[in-house]
Amino acid sequence: MSRTIHFADKGVRARTSASEPEVLDRLREIVGAENVLVDEERVEPYAGDALKEKFPPEAVVLPQSAEEVSAILRLANERRFPVTARGGGVGYTGGAVPVEGGIVVGTDRMNRIREVSVENLYAVTEPGVTTYALQQAVEEVGLFYPPDPASYKNSYIGGNVAENAGGIRSAKYGVTKHYVLGLEVVLPTGEIVRTGGLTSKNVVGFDLTGLICGSEGMLGIITEATLKLLPLPETTRTVRATFKTMTAACACPPAFTRARVTPVAIEVLDRNAIRAVESEFAFGIDPEAGALLLVSVDGPREEVEREIRLVEEVVKGLGGYDILRSESREDEDKLWDVRRALSPAIKKFGTLKFNEDVVVPRSRVPELIERVEAIGKKHDTFVVNFGHLGDGNIHVNFMCERSDPEAVARARAAVGETFAASVELGGTISGEHGIGYVKAPYLKMALGGETIEAMRRIKRALDPQGILNPGKVFV
Ligand SMILES: Cc1cc2nc3c(=O)[nH]c(=O)nc-3n(C[C@H](O)[C@H](O)[C@H](O)COP(=O)(O)OP(=O)(O)OC[C@H]3O[C@@H](n4cnc5c(N)ncnc54)[C@H](O)[C@@H]3O)c2cc1C
Repeated sequence: MSRTIHFADKGVRARTSASEPEVLDRLREIVGAENVLVDEERVEPYAGDALKEKFPPEAVVLPQSAEEVSAILRLANERRFPVTARGGGVGYTGGAVPVEGGIVVGTDRMNRIREVSVENLYAVTEPGVTTYALQQAVEEVGLFYPPDPASYKNSYIGGNVAENAGGIRSAKYGVTKHYVLGLEVVLPTGEIVRTGGLTSKNVVGFDLTGLICGSEGMLGIITEATLKLLPLPETTRTVRATFKTMTAACACPPAFTRARVTPVAIEVLDRNAIRAVESEFAFGIDPEAGALLLVSVDGPREEVEREIRLVEEVVKGLGGYDILRSESREDEDKLWDVRRALSPAIKKFGTLKFNEDVVVPRSRVPELIERVEAIGKKHDTFVVNFGHLGDGNIHVNFMCERSDPEAVARARAAVGETFAASVELGGTISGEHGIGYVKAPYLKMALGGETIEAMRRIKRALDPQGILNPGKVFV
């Protein structure tokens, strides 16, 4: 195991080692000896996330209740060691990685769905339930949990709330925070608090639920979430089309609005993304196309049939060609295969991918893509763009060889310039993945100094000793 990133070390203050025998004994008393992992090979799976940079914790502790989490955090304050909460460990910004050492609190054992209420449209769940397991459980009773990060099979509800995860359905349904009615949270100092409740209307006191959503595991450890549900849409239909230019494809979303259609997903692939999937998987897409669009609508069957025809008309009217429309579930899967093929397809362009998730007002996506292409050329770095056109959240992927330090440095410079361009275009540096430690050096590009100071004050008020997830967001 190796530590590959060192800038966070600057923030390390004198702390107790969490691996001192007395500390480990007290952790064993709290959660049981079998739930405190210290052997290198058992700790290793908790050392990294999707970034694949490893920071092994001194120990991994696996509690099963809010009371156990509370006792762990009280001990951490008493003995002053860092604690990092972890969900499924598929974050893209190193949020769950203990960059300043200490322990990782894994939520794997807190994996029960406590209640699904059809009558009141909510689910109460522990944080270690995967997004997929929750979706499946509610769909079995005809309900729908819309947030759908592409990592849904591995990500946990606790991680989704802490990162305020989005997904392709965000175009119509919004992101995780729009579905969080209430939380049970253990504050960094160990108090167990409840925010919100079981009702969708609730304006009593400050909106602490909103504060915790997207707080990247820095303001408390979520031990229970009450999530809003919707009736399960009856069906979905999709249109796939190619366009000569990205600008032509980007004219579609406002035209859908004018046609009074709100698609559940509007996904776009740029020229390089099309070439990548075409060369690897031969879907038969025009290799000269400038953009490929995937548009889905969902709802009652008759309405969906009407809306998908409107979508097709709009797409045709704006220069879309090679238009395909799904007629069945199998067709749906086939049309979406192109999107699923992207990640494996672009691997051939480099062993290291800087996968950024910038966001701009959706009408400015063509300018963003133009700017990013120019940045890629300037730094001699291959770039592939795809993403959620419905909400302007574009995945910009700069590709390079891990073993070539100059190419890596050029790609890094391209990332910084892309963030600057996104902010200049009225957007920001992350729409989904959060800041973690990897984007912390760029925070000032996106937020003013006084805004950052307000956030720091909240952090200090709730976590005076700075024990919970240090080395993240602020550097
Ligand atoms: C292939 C792939 C596709 C992805 N697609 C998307 C996408 O479409 N949309 C999207 O939004 N993201 C996406 N992501 C990023 C990532 O999966 C999400 O951010 C997800 O929400 C992380 O969940 P997790 O359970 O893995 O969290 P982790 O990585 O374990 O943790 C993430 C952060 O949450 C904190 N945390 C975890 N559990 C708790 C808890 N119980 N209490 C408090 N804090 C906690 C951690 O401390 C950390 O700061 C993708 C990642 C991959 C690898």
